[in-house]
Amino acid sequence: MTFETLGLAEPLLRAISDAGYTTPTPIQAQAIPAVLNGGDLLAGAQTGTGKTAGFTLPLLHRLSTGEKVLNKRGKIAIRALVLTPTRELAAQVEESVQTYGKYLPLKSMVMFGGVGMQPQINKLRDGVDILVATPGRLLDHAQQGTLDLSQVQILVLDEADRMLDMGFVHDIKKVLALLPAKKQSLLFSATFSDEIKNLADRLLNAPALIEVARRNQTNDAIAQKVHPVGRERKKELLAHLIKGGQDGQPWHQVLIFTRMKHGANRLTDYLNDQGISAMAIHGNKSQGARTKALADFKAGDLTCLVATDIAARGIDIDQLPHVVNFELPNVAEDYVHRIGRTGRAGAQGEAVSLVCVDENGFLKDIERLIKREIPKEIVPGFAPDPNERAEPIVLGRTVLNPNGSRGRNPNPPAGANGRGGRGGGGGGGRGGDSRGGSRDGGRDNQGRSGGGGRPAGHTGVGGAKTAPKPHAEHAPRAAGAQPARGNNGGAPRHNNGPRLTQPKR
Ligand code: AMP
Repeated sequence: MTFETLGLAEPLLRAISDAGYTTPTPIQAQAIPAVLNGGDLLAGAQTGTGKTAGFTLPLLHRLSTGEKVLNKRGKIAIRALVLTPTRELAAQVEESVQTYGKYLPLKSMVMFGGVGMQPQINKLRDGVDILVATPGRLLDHAQQGTLDLSQVQILVLDEADRMLDMGFVHDIKKVLALLPAKKQSLLFSATFSDEIKNLADRLLNAPALIEVARRNQTNDAIAQKVHPVGRERKKELLAHLIKGGQDGQPWHQVLIFTRMKHGANRLTDYLNDQGISAMAIHGNKSQGARTKALADFKAGDLTCLVATDIAARGIDIDQLPHVVNFELPNVAEDYVHRIGRTGRAGAQGEAVSLVCVDENGFLKDIERLIKREIPKEIVPGFAPDPNERAEPIVLGRTVLNPNGSRGRNPNPPAGANGRGGRGGGGGGGRGGDSRGGSRDGGRDNQGRSGGGGRPAGHTGVGGAKTAPKPHAEHAPRAAGAQPARGNNGGAPRHNNGPRLTQPKR
């Protein structure tokens, strides 16, 4: 199969050829004809499958072969709206629109929070065909009357599951209310929870169904490995691996995950001290700092990007060779998302997890989820001390004990109260990254609630009650979810540093 046989317009074929793509990926082979047909689409595809081109190419084709529409002010009206959960993903999708649409006379813009409104207002005034946006900032514009969505013909919800995960359900409903009833709607999601099904039922009309990667399936192009290591030697081992200590080949582009923002900062400092260039990317970083870190990393000027799960959402880097779990995620699904950053669209990648005795329970959860055992390999000189005992892991104001029980952090981090899930309080949720975090932070600029964690149990689009999923950067793992681990006791501590510190929230 070729892109030509899919029936795409010549200017698109030229742009595809410039990008160096010769064969459509499976999602593209299925989604492109379905979207060109004009019908709705429900597509199950994770990042790395080529899904962005899967909707961008036919969207551009349809707009370029359709008639331009003018808005009330006589300017080009928005005919396509792409909603994404994060700023990074919005920027990347719009980049794809520009890449594939470079030979077409179509105008696009990206809109997200954390940056000034006025330049966006100016751009909107000039008129655009395609708008890629995060929901929060989009609603801010709609409320200010600077955005007219009444002519939208195509709507794309990209990574819809993450949007719901991050507490955007009400924002999505509000956006839908701004759009014409008659339109082509495309919903992309890595998973099909009841919430997603409800959203699809509400939004889509007799959609074509495409699923290319089953839920929680890890990509076979990714070589996964666990390096068991002593708690205190993780940093050293990481520096050793990056410097090529294992096979003499230094690593040049490494995405590293930590659970907490302060852990990301400390690891970044350590790596820089070791002469390895690194920058942290997390919710406490300004949008400017995050954009710069990502650009330097993509350009190959920065060896390591150290990220928390939320900040890393939607990061798309071509053929990222190395992903390191410096700390395993406390939510097993995050492992799949993390390692999905490598081995993309057929490229070979390596995902390495540095696992200390405290994290054996997390590792079991992950292996159960992905239905396979991850090979363990001790790096010579870094064998863990067999007598090292598991210690509790501190996540915000909660302590996960090795026996699976949870306790209260005796030194709760500032600002942790009132957020995060505890007992009946529930919550926290993935939406908590509102302080300039990956979540659309447009509103926090204006002193409004930019989206703290959603409340315990929230109503899905279709009215289904669902429990919010806790996330380490902000909230502890759900009670009881941690399987029993070999016990011992010991003082609560962060597993990436010598003493409890106060993670900034
Ligand atoms: P996505 O799943 O949209 O995040 O895309 C993953 C990566 O695959 C992106 O870096 C694209 O540049 C790349 N890609 C998309 N389509 C193709 C293709 N047909 N052939 C090779 N690479 C592709």
